[in-house]
Amino acid sequence: MSDTPGVKPSHTPVSIRKQGNTGLKISWDDGHVSAYRFRFLRQNCPCAACVEEWTGRRLLDPETVPLDLVCTKVEPTGNYALSCTFSDYHNTGIYHFEHLRAICPCESCNGNRLE
Ligand SMILES: [Zn+2]
Ligand SMILES: [Zn+2]
Repeated sequence: MSDTPGVKPSHTPVSIRKQGNTGLKISWDDGHVSAYRFRFLRQNCPCAACVEEWTGRRLLDPETVPLDLVCTKVEPTGNYALSCTFSDYHNTGIYHFEHLRAICPCESCNGNRLE
């Protein structure tokens, strides 16, 4: 067991569930529920091969992600993130809970982001 350095995430999932072949559903400790399509998660992969480390520039062309892409394995990483293995064998993305919450595609989060 290794303790995670740094601050505790302000949002923690209470349940993480795969929704068949379509996506991932996360219930948060504040009652919020986020539903992510696997393709969306892959397009938002934060790993160094998909996002340039220093500039944050996206290296991955979202259009190249197959429409039928699925996540074959979802595993917790420490107690602050998830790691996903996709059907295109990409598995280097570590999705921090903060990141996942920030990219929540639901209407109310999208609305908040536009303000
Ligand atoms: Zn990646
Ligand atoms: Zn949301």
